[in-house]
Amino acid sequence: MKLAVIGTGYVGLVTGTCFADSGNHVICVDNNSNKVEMLRNKQIPIYEPGIEPLFERSVREGRLVFTTNLEDAVKHAEIIFLCLPTPPGANGQADLSFVLNVAEEIAPMIDSYKIIVNKSTVPVGTADQVHAKIKPFAKADFDVVSNPEFLREGAAIDDFLKPERVVVGTQSPRAMEKMHALYEPFVRSGNPIIFMDERSSELTKYAANAFLATKISFMNEIANLCERVGANVDNVRRGIGTDTRIGKRFLFAGIGYGGSCFPKDVQALGFTADEYDYDFKILDAVMSVNDHQRLSMMSKILHHFGSLSGKQITIWGLAFKAETDDVREAPALYLAKELVDSGAKVIAYDPEAAKNFKEYMGPEYADKIEYKSNALDALDGSDALLICTDWNEFRRPNFDEFTNRLNKPVVFDGRNLYDLDHMAKTGIHYYSVGRATVTPASS
Ligand code: NAD
Repeated sequence: MKLAVIGTGYVGLVTGTCFADSGNHVICVDNNSNKVEMLRNKQIPIYEPGIEPLFERSVREGRLVFTTNLEDAVKHAEIIFLCLPTPPGANGQADLSFVLNVAEEIAPMIDSYKIIVNKSTVPVGTADQVHAKIKPFAKADFDVVSNPEFLREGAAIDDFLKPERVVVGTQSPRAMEKMHALYEPFVRSGNPIIFMDERSSELTKYAANAFLATKISFMNEIANLCERVGANVDNVRRGIGTDTRIGKRFLFAGIGYGGSCFPKDVQALGFTADEYDYDFKILDAVMSVNDHQRLSMMSKILHHFGSLSGKQITIWGLAFKAETDDVREAPALYLAKELVDSGAKVIAYDPEAAKNFKEYMGPEYADKIEYKSNALDALDGSDALLICTDWNEFRRPNFDEFTNRLNKPVVFDGRNLYDLDHMAKTGIHYYSVGRATVTPASS
């Protein structure tokens, strides 16, 4: 099939690459000409494990091309995917300007039957809005379909190639048939393509993200209670996760959820509820727990040191989670700012995300944070290590290096990476989330 993908970010590039890999001819459009230039030079602008071989093969075989020319892409394609940003607006609602502006732009270019598929996360009613933008100017029939994306950064290729389900919101039999044919190669093992109306499909994405965020906030509340009652959240997690009604995943306590999706999607769902005069009480609690949790480690740091003036703190992990270079809403952004604003000098290390982190922190923090290219070197002369991301390379460190390189070995672990019994043997002062603090005998 001939496809266009508009917006070549985390979702668009993975979508374009995976569809091209399964034999479709895909034109990816982006209005960021630097990005398009990089892609044309076979450079991938994001870190996403496993994307390279698929990308290189499809580019080499001419099935995956990149352009800034919207009209070329729209004319080429029968199915047009919108993978555009929907960032939070001023009041937390999803900002639809990227999606609606592109809908307006492509409308007069539609001169044969097209399916416009919205993959961006958008509020209920957006398919209708996109339809209304296009209708007056289109010169041929078209359908607008909702097809929310559930991929996870860091595992995006696998998620796309082997989705647990594909959700398609359309009531047009013609669009249904095409979408089924397009996705059929990805669900050969029997996972479903679930067809439904557009509104339910749009809401499904928000419901999924809000539910997962709720699980995280719930476990963080349990962790905070564990600290007070002398229980261990790891044990509680294992105890409840084995119940198949609950499930093992998304039960890890930590320093809150981040990323480009959960925070904005929970907020946007709350906004939709407000618009329809519905008081969605759980969402407010989920957000407020997360806001608190993001900085919970800060209270432990302040309590440990008293004052941070003149202290040097190393941060391991800047990305919002492991296996990505995405730092949008990463807990490390909030913690680094708090540390610097409290008088500490920050040394930072991340295997992939340092460049993006520096950009997000802005010029105000440029000379207050020093970036290192090696995890151990980042420890030298610091008063403590703060772990914000669960990168694999942090899981099995040589703990003697902590003792040798830190002034006094103190670790604040926002991801519960280390075993408490093991830490008790290292002489390291070890704080984690929802578990007892390990205090060395000499302290
Ligand atoms: P992104 O910011 O990485 O990518 C968006 C791309 O669109 C950018 O490359 C940008 O240059 C381009 N763009 C902006 N305006 C354009 C225009 N007028 N014409 C052409 N290109 C334009 O965003 P993303 O993370 O890929 O997310 C896209 C959507 O998918 C959002 O709604 C998001 O909520 C949703 N989503 C994201 C993920 C994820 O893990 N990142 C997962 C599921 C759904």
